[in-house]
Amino acid sequence: MRVTRDKHFYAFSAALSPAATVKPGETVVMETHDCFCGQIRTEADSVEALDWSRINPATGPVYVEGAEPGDVLVVDIREIHLPSQGAMVAIPGEGALGDIIPAAETRIIPVREGRAVFNDRVRLELSPMIGVIGVAPRTGEVPTGTPGRHGGNMDCTAVRAGSKVYLPVEVPGALLGMGDLHAAMADGEVLICGLETSGEVVFTTRLLRDTRLPVPLVETADRIAALSSAPTVDEAAREAVHAMAALLTGAVGLSTNEAGMLLSLVGELRFCQVVDPMKTVRMEFPKAVLASLGFTLDRPADHADHAD
Ligand code: CA
Ligand code: ZN
Repeated sequence: MRVTRDKHFYAFSAALSPAATVKPGETVVMETHDCFCGQIRTEADSVEALDWSRINPATGPVYVEGAEPGDVLVVDIREIHLPSQGAMVAIPGEGALGDIIPAAETRIIPVREGRAVFNDRVRLELSPMIGVIGVAPRTGEVPTGTPGRHGGNMDCTAVRAGSKVYLPVEVPGALLGMGDLHAAMADGEVLICGLETSGEVVFTTRLLRDTRLPVPLVETADRIAALSSAPTVDEAAREAVHAMAALLTGAVGLSTNEAGMLLSLVGELRFCQVVDPMKTVRMEFPKAVLASLGFTLDRPADHADHAD
């Protein structure tokens, strides 16, 4: 199944008509626009000329057959394919350096032989990731530029090929959307953008029944991360730590004190992004320690678990 990028939207909502219907386990290729919806193609395309109503499009939404409120949608990200260039912008007043950015600038950064050619002297390893990935909220709508419990614009560097994203399903079919790929980005996304690109994401989905999640989770090869978004990094950090502590006490059965001790020893608290009105922070915990406690998050679903 291929979902083309002409099918995109700007707010996650139960009211959206599905762009496609997929079965759990089915391989999906999702074409995505970059966060500028293709408005910046050369360095002559200025920030001032941007149509801000066309920022952060997400492709979809995809209706996942059988997904019901109370389930968790697992998105297995198999591959991320990128084009041969990405864009960055510096904007006065925006991001963690906005107070000293003197003038707006658009930069096109070519991608050659698997590296981002930043300038004559600096070539960077790519770290392809998905900035926006989410499902529809139970009520109302959430702009695709906003992160939250539904996922959305979390800008988490752990959301990359090989990772699994766990999203709490709020509406029938989940209504999954994604976009805002980055060819590279560091934790914090301090300037306010990564190396913004269009691209294609290859993924499969699965459903976990009756698995309540207070926040989205991301699983990498060796870690599980609980993500929280809030108006301040303090609040987001608090919720992310509490969510991981709740997993350790609820699912694994540790005492609160023991959970706290382990979090203090091996839980890594990291910024996803600190530059949107809602900041996103994650608490990462090693899967090896969870395994020694007898816990694996990615247990088989009660049906349709033929993704691996
Ligand atoms: Ca983003
Ligand atoms: Zn982005």
